[in-house]
Amino acid sequence: MAKDTLHNWEKKSAERQKLYKQYLQKADKNKVLKQLPDFHEEAFSKINCLDCANCCKNYSPRFKTPDIKRISKHLGMRESEFIERYLRVDEDGDFVAKSIPCPFLGTDNYCSIYDHRPSDCHRFPHTDEDVFIKRQALTLKNSSFCPITYFVIEKLLETEKRK
Ligand code: SF4
Ligand code: SF4
Repeated sequence: MAKDTLHNWEKKSAERQKLYKQYLQKADKNKVLKQLPDFHEEAFSKINCLDCANCCKNYSPRFKTPDIKRISKHLGMRESEFIERYLRVDEDGDFVAKSIPCPFLGTDNYCSIYDHRPSDCHRFPHTDEDVFIKRQALTLKNSSFCPITYFVIEKLLETEKRK
């Protein structure tokens, strides 16, 4: 099932963005929230983030104040030094990584600050929380580059078809 679902997934996702948008707009929020944990778990059991790292390679998380405090302490740097070296302020006024791919991503796709990583990274791709259905534009964007998001949304659509 996963193999079929994931075959050519980037192309399929691009073709089905409109369908996903319509589905997310009409979906029964409570029903989706009930279904998410199982699909989230199934997706993570079939897809290995270490084979992908598309999120770390192409987008930056926000580095919020507690993240900056925690990571700079872990790296033995002053917060100001950490900000100066790694971060910039984006158009929303948030601190994000100065360079993409993320400076903490290794060539083996491991995160060098994994245990201390920003909460955005910890929560990504939001497939087990209400952000998935509340922030539909974000979910749509994520489905275009994150195979886990794609897998979950396809599973949700599959259960709709079975009705
Ligand atoms: S884009 Fe999705 S599947 Fe890929 S590493 Fe990030 S969370 Fe994992
Ligand atoms: S901090 Fe780690 S998990 Fe977050 S984007 Fe960078 S490499 Fe990826």
